[in-house]
Parts: sequence; structure tokens; C-alpha cells
Amino acid sequence: MPPCAHSQRCWARPASKCDNGFEGDSTLSRPDTLPGFRGVLLDRDGVLNDKPKGFVYTWEEFLFLPGVLEALRRLHEAGIPVAVITNQSFIGRGWISRDEVELIHQKMCDAVAEHGGRIEGVFLCPHAPEDGCRCRKPAILSFVRALTCLGLEASDCCYVGDRPTDVLAAHAAGMEGYLVRSGAAFDEAAVRNPPYCAEGLVGDLAEFVDCLLGAE
Ligand SMILES: [Mg+2]
Ligand SMILES: [Zn+2]
Repeated sequence: MPPCAHSQRCWARPASKCDNGFEGDSTLSRPDTLPGFRGVLLDRDGVLNDKPKGFVYTWEEFLFLPGVLEALRRLHEAGIPVAVITNQSFIGRGWISRDEVELIHQKMCDAVAEHGGRIEGVFLCPHAPEDGCRCRKPAILSFVRALTCLGLEASDCCYVGDRPTDVLAAHAAGMEGYLVRSGAAFDEAAVRNPPYCAEGLVGDLAEFVDCLLGAE
């Protein structure tokens, strides 16, 4: 297998001191050795879209990150279903209505479909952190709902996010957690170590899909 084109910039399967219970060779260091996931769960902000104003209030402010639509098309063509899991606490704070967010998600899914991709479902937590719900990441209810939607087991899937807490959520749900650099800033050394132990770190969703399916 040829080395991953991104091998200087991304890694997968960090040090074995991260005993996070996943099977497989913890010494693997190249992302072209990603497991063959049957489904991929994605965070929204920072993975699919940018949010230059800090929050997306309208569809006009929803800006797909470079390569995302192409990456989603590739996953669909490869027969790998995708669902989105996102915390949208601004609903719970009363800054935007759930209907407004659902409309943005409908247009997001339509745009993905127009480009040959498919999002099977969007599972959002509308609550504020202080509500103590079970669907706000790193709690796992949204993951349970997404897996039910896809008809897959947690061990069949992985989650791709842009915050260390996304990895905690993935692991709590029983799946591997990968991080992209296209969203929030985080300490890259820290996420390789406990308590995070991310399975991998890549530039963006397009790079993740390259690592999963091979460069196109
Ligand atoms: Mg995010
Ligand atoms: Zn919630």
C-alpha cells in the first residue's frame, strides 16, 4: 500500500499508552491504515462548515469548508452512510429557534444531495449545557439515535469532530474518534494522550476521506 499522501501532516492510532480498549495495532502510524468503517458520523461546525461569525444563524451564513461536498459524494459512492451529530445550544439559549436550525439542516442536506452525496440524518442537541440533557455531546444519546438511523453498531463506525470533547463523546459511544484541524483550535499533543486518546488527526474531512478510501 503506498504511503498516505498526507503522512507528514496527519497521524492515526497514537501511542499504546492510550489504553482505550480498541482492538487493533496501536502502533500503526499512517492514516492509510484506517479501519474500514461501515458508517461515518460527523460533527457539523468545524467539520462540514465554517462559522466565521461564531454561529450560523441563517443558511446564507452556512459556508461549506473546502472539499467537504466532494468528500461526502465519495463516501456515498463508496456505500458508506453518513449522519451528523451536533450540539446547538443557541437553541436552548433562545438565540435561534429549532425550526430555523432545522431549515438550515434541510438546505445543507439538499446541497449535499445536489453534489452527489447523502446525509442520512442530522441529530442535534437543542439544549443549553445547564439543562443536563442526555443528548448534548459528550453524552451519547445523539449517537444512539444516529446508529439506530444507520442500522449500524458503534464498532462499525467512527466520529469525526473538531474538539477534544468530540473524541470523548465518540469513545463513550463505543467508537473511534478522529479530529480535523479545520475547526476549533486545540492542543495537538494533548489529544494524543489520556484522557482523549484520539485515534487520528487530519487536516480536514477531505483528507479523512482520502485516508479512508485512498486519494482519488
Ligand atoms: Mg465542531
Ligand atoms: Zn440535549
